Amino acid sequence: MISKIINGKKIAKKIQKKLKKKILKRKMNKLIIPKLAVLLIGDNESSKIYIKNKKIACKKIGIISKTYTFPQKILEIDIIKKIKKLNTNKSIHGILVQLPLPKKINTLKVLREISYKKDVDGFHPLNIGLLCQRNPNLRACTPLGIMTLLKKYKIKIQGINALIIGASNIVGRPMMLELLLAGCTTTIAHRFTKNLYQYIKNADLIVIAIGKANFLKGKWIKEGAIIIDVGINRLKNGKIVGDADFNSIYKKASYITPVPGGVGPMTVTSLLKNTIYICEKYHDR
Ligand code: NAD
Repeated sequence: MISKIINGKKIAKKIQKKLKKKILKRKMNKLIIPKLAVLLIGDNESSKIYIKNKKIACKKIGIISKTYTFPQKILEIDIIKKIKKLNTNKSIHGILVQLPLPKKINTLKVLREISYKKDVDGFHPLNIGLLCQRNPNLRACTPLGIMTLLKKYKIKIQGINALIIGASNIVGRPMMLELLLAGCTTTIAHRFTKNLYQYIKNADLIVIAIGKANFLKGKWIKEGAIIIDVGINRLKNGKIVGDADFNSIYKKASYITPVPGGVGPMTVTSLLKNTIYICEKYHDR
């Protein structure tokens, strides 16, 4: 079997085109134009690149974005003060705190301070809780992007065995909730999981997000499994690869997302979608 490659780049482009039209229509109807506040704390080089890309994507479709930068040494209390100000600022609709934060800052505490109505990343406990109760509101961007891809490719997942490898707050856990909501029988594995291979071989769908280059091998997976690769790993030669070993999986899986060009572009697209959703849900009359 040769896998069908899920082209996230193409789907993202199509969706972003529609979102751009939506914003143009809002302008014509004199509705508010979505505005996103982005908080960059510290000097993580990857964060700077991610923010740059998010800003470009916003600009392309007509979302206004404003970046607030803070030094590595900023106190937690000062970040929270800024978030509180942005929460009450009526001209700001979405707030994004770029992760990871410097070690001395309590990430969960900071994310909790963002109003759940401006929570474009979908990490607020209330939004995660709503997803857990089968009543999603703002949804975490990477899992939402993956669900959109599965839908666009008309991949039927109700009732199948889904395995999520990686249990982080930003990918694995919300991903598990999304797949559960979609009717999968879900298993979540992490660094303490024993006999990971037993779970892998029984999985019809695997979402892998562990940050380990080419970890998942074709010989471990079930024939015809759907493989969604979230990982972004830079090799010594500069090449970007995922957590799944594309070459060995390609001949065995039914579908696979490439890295780059699979999940990544969908994460940014979800962010844009969420920002517009906030305006529609909380600001339009
Ligand atoms: P993380 O480090 O916060 O979490 C990694 C998870 O993997 C943990 O739950 C850990 O227990 C688990 N894990 C590690 N080694 C394992 C092993 N050998 N077997 C089973 N589980 C193991 O990582 P994260 O923030 O969730 O990111 C994971 C990867 O996804 C990274 O490469 C990151 O760059 C990438 N990422 C990509 C996107 C995107 O849009 N494509 C978005 C977010 C993260």
